[in-house]
Amino acid sequence: VTSPPVPDEDSAPYWDALREHRLRLQKCANCGEVRFPPMPGCPNCGSPESKLLFGAGTGEVYSWIVVRRPFGTFTEADLPAVIATVELDEGCRVLGRLHTTKPVSAGLRVVARYVDHDEWTELAFDPVGS
Ligand SMILES: [Zn+2]
Repeated sequence: VTSPPVPDEDSAPYWDALREHRLRLQKCANCGEVRFPPMPGCPNCGSPESKLLFGAGTGEVYSWIVVRRPFGTFTEADLPAVIATVELDEGCRVLGRLHTTKPVSAGLRVVARYVDHDEWTELAFDPVGS
């Protein structure tokens, strides 16, 4: 299990949405770039104006690591754990645990899995079709 988040002013609405199993993203009102993590301005054009966008939760694996030894908050029971950077279909990248026991490859299609913990909800992923 990964650590609970420490929400700030920008990320609190994102965590609140995850609690409702919704993936809240920001889309720049000026250039249309979809961004993550939540931030007050567009990294592409600098515009402070953004629109709310709820992601479909689908995307593909961009990169990943496999945790094989207890590390940080990962205990033996959690291992091995795949932590993937997922490129969402909306165009931005997010990080999350990928629940699979099969080999992972770049471009693997995945879908969001919302894992409820006591006080927060974790964004994780499953391979499509598993
Ligand atoms: Zn922009």
